[in-house]
Amino acid sequence: MKHASAIRRDGSINPECYDIVDGCHLWNLGLIGGRPVSLRNGQRTSIRHWVTHSEPRRQIRATCRNDRCINPDHLVVALSVSETTAALMARLPNSALRDDDRVLLQQRADGASVRAIAEGLGLPVGRVAHQLRTADIRMHRILAELDRQSANTDLARLPHQEDQHPRER
Ligand SMILES: [Zn+2]
Repeated sequence: MKHASAIRRDGSINPECYDIVDGCHLWNLGLIGGRPVSLRNGQRTSIRHWVTHSEPRRQIRATCRNDRCINPDHLVVALSVSETTAALMARLPNSALRDDDRVLLQQRADGASVRAIAEGLGLPVGRVAHQLRTADIRMHRILAELDRQSANTDLARLPHQEDQHPRER
C-alpha cells in the first residue's frame, strides 16, 4: 500500500491502514518516533493529530496505551498552557488571586507568551517567567484548598456509618 492513500480525499483514514482489535484501530503502516505517521501531499502527517483535528504541537496520548492506536475515541489531546490556565482560573473566585498574579495569569490564559508579557511590562523575561511560576504555584494551592474544603463539606453531609447501619446489640 502506498503511503499517499492512507488519508483519503474526504479526510477519512483508509480502513486498510489499520486493524480493529478490541476496539483499538491499530495502525499497520509506518511509525516515526513510535507514533503512526503517513505522508499527505508529500508532508509527514501524524495520524493521531489528523484524526483528532489537533495542531501538530499538541501532545496526544492514548487511553488504551497502545502506541499504534488511532481510534479517536481512545485519544486524549492535551490542553495548551493557555487553555489549562484559563480552565483553572475559571474555577476560582475572582478575589482568590493576588492582583499581580491574576494580571500575569490572565495574560497567559489569553495566549500571550512569556516574552510578550515581559515586553508589555518592561521586565526581563527570566523575572516574568519566575513570577508566572510563582503565581501558578499559588493558584494551585488555592485550588487544592478549595477542593479540600468541598471534600470536607461532602463528608459532613454523609450520614455517619452508625446512623446508616445501626448495630444490633
Ligand atoms: Zn486504542
